[in-house]
Amino acid sequence: EVVMPLPTAFKHLGECIEAGRRMFRLTDQTPPVTEQGCSQLPRSADLRVRNVSFIYPGSDRKILADISFDLPQGKHMALVGASGAGKSTLIRLLLRLWEPMNGQIELGGVNLRDVEPKVIRRWFSVIEQKTYLFHESAADNLRLGHPTATLTELQDAASKSQIDQVLRELPEGYDTLLGELGARLSGGERQRLALARALLKEAPILLLDEPTTGLDAIVEQRFMKTLQMVAAGRSVLLITHRISGLESFDEILVLKDGRIAERGTHMELLNLRGIYRAMWEVERDRLHANMEINR
Ligand code: ADP
Ligand code: MG
Repeated sequence: EVVMPLPTAFKHLGECIEAGRRMFRLTDQTPPVTEQGCSQLPRSADLRVRNVSFIYPGSDRKILADISFDLPQGKHMALVGASGAGKSTLIRLLLRLWEPMNGQIELGGVNLRDVEPKVIRRWFSVIEQKTYLFHESAADNLRLGHPTATLTELQDAASKSQIDQVLRELPEGYDTLLGELGARLSGGERQRLALARALLKEAPILLLDEPTTGLDAIVEQRFMKTLQMVAAGRSVLLITHRISGLESFDEILVLKDGRIAERGTHMELLNLRGIYRAMWEVERDRLHANMEINR
């Protein structure tokens, strides 16, 4: 194992000032030494997953079997599959909360096994099904993404995430206490706040695990549009069991029984007339029924 000296690490950094600035945040700590050897620093946000299989300890059921895909920096990928298909498990592997039994995951050319979990976490912003709000001000809830952010930076991220107006109109604006006792935000508003948090963190890869669960179809569509705007230039791995707003994604994987059953763009998968197509038809009927009710 070699330790990459920081000057060498910096030589790998892109020319672009913006990328450089982001990278500085990611690499401005000395790589921690692990028991196995020395932690390495990923050189880009390119994700490479090769023949990954996984079984939870004590279980005999293969949750993921022979999963391979690439998520190059800046590309948008969706992972679609029924509940229990192994989608969240894959996220846990990407964050190195668990390690694959077989195969490997590389981040920026480095095997995740050689990267400290806390270094890995700086590369990802995770948005989950439900966003927990702390009983703190709206501003401090946003600052979870970036503790030293100025109010202007908070407002900029909130504005891009379409939540600025909502926060301004709270009784005490950004100083309003959120959470159980204070102002309540709707499900859609919470998820847009989570997007703003993720933006503030400035991690190059956004992982979203069923972020529109429980939202109605109209609110879901708004979230997907906002996601598209804020995610330009970042990698996205969106996990979803609903097919909505995936037209512009670079690649969609359909996961079934732990395996990738179908893969392609939205149009390619519709033409395949398989699982994706069937899910899309159910979704389309749901949306139409919704529109009837709201008429
Ligand atoms: P999804 O996110 O697609 O709904 P998960 O990745 O959460 O699916 O789970 C896939 C399967 O793994 C499920 O059958 C679930 O019961 C099982 N599972 C999840 N977590 C654990 C765990 N910690 N130990 C054992 N089995 C688990
Ligand atoms: Mg899940």
